[in-house]
Amino acid sequence: MKFCEHCNLAVENDICPNCNKRTRIIDGEDMCFFGEYNIFESNMLIAALETENIPYINQSIYFYVISAKFGKPNGKRIYLRYSDFDRVREIDATIFRKK
Ligand SMILES: [Zn+2]
Repeated sequence: MKFCEHCNLAVENDICPNCNKRTRIIDGEDMCFFGEYNIFESNMLIAALETENIPYINQSIYFYVISAKFGKPNGKRIYLRYSDFDRVREIDATIFRKK
């Protein structure tokens, strides 16, 4: 797996599909974009991450277009260490019953 330092994305190619810049070999410590969640989901996921002592970065975003009109972010973008991805995918699937 490769890593784009510009987008904080884990990608499969030598060139990032998002920004077209060159990627490098990923390190387990790299903080990578994991997903976008609405405010309710992100609160649940963050609570689970804190329970499990998994480090994360969250960034407030406008999840729905409509909320931008009212000027209040209502979603979060979650970044995790690449080495935690598999574990958090399981947590995510358990919380949100994804298959
Ligand atoms: Zn990129």
